[in-house]
Amino acid sequence: MRDENCIFCKIASGEIPSRTLYEDEEFRVILDLNPATRGHALILPKEHYRNLYEIDDSMASKVLPLARRMAVTMTKKLHCDGFNVIQNNNEVAGQTVFHFHVHLIPRYKDDGHSLVMRPCGMTAEALDTVRDEIAGE
Ligand code: AMP
Ligand code: ZN
Repeated sequence: MRDENCIFCKIASGEIPSRTLYEDEEFRVILDLNPATRGHALILPKEHYRNLYEIDDSMASKVLPLARRMAVTMTKKLHCDGFNVIQNNNEVAGQTVFHFHVHLIPRYKDDGHSLVMRPCGMTAEALDTVRDEIAGE
């Protein structure tokens, strides 16, 4: 389904032009308009899903293979030194456009970015508690 008010639905369908890197029946991969690094791209499914919570297993099973193929191609062509694949869900996690998408971010030595996660400092007991909360009965 498409969402009439969703900008990424319009971009994915081609109604709004974009700098497309790849397209097939189900996906369009575009350059991010406000890139974090040179070549920063977004994988957009043509179907509208709000985020990871809404996609089904069929969609999920196609996204990572596409991300992998794009990363290989982009690394070859852009000569980047590494790659981040990032996917944000809900505002608190940095999602600003509510159409599921995956960030493909080429990384370069000395690109000045720090996407490294800071440890939040949990004790062994707190780790046990959260483990039980997630995986317990
Ligand atoms: P997120 O914060 O994970 O929701 O990512 C949204 C991304 O979409 C940001 O990196 C924006 O720069 C990018 N963006 C927003 N509008 C457009 C647009 N019209 N074309 C391309 N990228 C866009
Ligand atoms: Zn949409």
